Amino acid sequence: MKKIIIAIDGFSSCGKSTMAKELAHRIGYIYIDSGAMYRAVTLYALEGGLIEGDRINADRLSQAMDQIRITFRLHDQTGRPHTLLNGQDVEERIRSMEISTHVSPIAALDFVREAMVAQQQAMGQDKGIVMDGRDIGTTVFPNAELKIFVTATPEIRARRRYDELKAKGVETSYEEILRNVKERDYIDQHRAVSPLRQADDALLLDNTHLTREQQNAWLEHQYQLHACE
Ligand code: C5P
Repeated sequence: MKKIIIAIDGFSSCGKSTMAKELAHRIGYIYIDSGAMYRAVTLYALEGGLIEGDRINADRLSQAMDQIRITFRLHDQTGRPHTLLNGQDVEERIRSMEISTHVSPIAALDFVREAMVAQQQAMGQDKGIVMDGRDIGTTVFPNAELKIFVTATPEIRARRRYDELKAKGVETSYEEILRNVKERDYIDQHRAVSPLRQADDALLLDNTHLTREQQNAWLEHQYQLHACE
């Protein structure tokens, strides 16, 4: 079997990260959550006072980009990948609703994308990687051997996200999440740089009515087909 690059793109909260993480674990590949990188930049901007209300201080953020280093490390106890921002574990903090609210406008900035895409391409240099995001198959790895584009209805995605946050004990409302999911879909699809779209050679996976097991089986079958070619 040859080592390949697997690009998994799609809409917010459709389970991309979970399926990408599980697949990488099963086949012994590195997993990279590119959304976590945009979330970490957003955290940096929020903590540095570079976001006030809806306004982003793009000049200052652009100057700070070369001081933002994002890496991943497997957590000692859980074995799960955690996101580090300049060496500090920010995995929990980047999943908050506040970050979700501000991340899409930050991810639409051309200099932010340029810096993140360069880091992501460096991570995939040796292949053997599963990366999920919005532009992995179109911009980051246009030559990826296997590209998947995942979707599900906004209502199903909001419900899954709601259940996930509730299970973690986070107070939130389904309506607020649904609004956030739709807003992020819109911004991600309409931004000027690398908008979210299905690459011409990506396989479409609508998981609205699929169980996790069915989805994993389909994904692994696709991996077998593409790594054997
Ligand atoms: O995947 P996740 O929902 O955590 O990503 C957070 C946000 O980061 C997305 O809503 C999107 O705006 C942005 N993103 C992006 N390109 C990627 C990954 C994420 O623009 N490759």
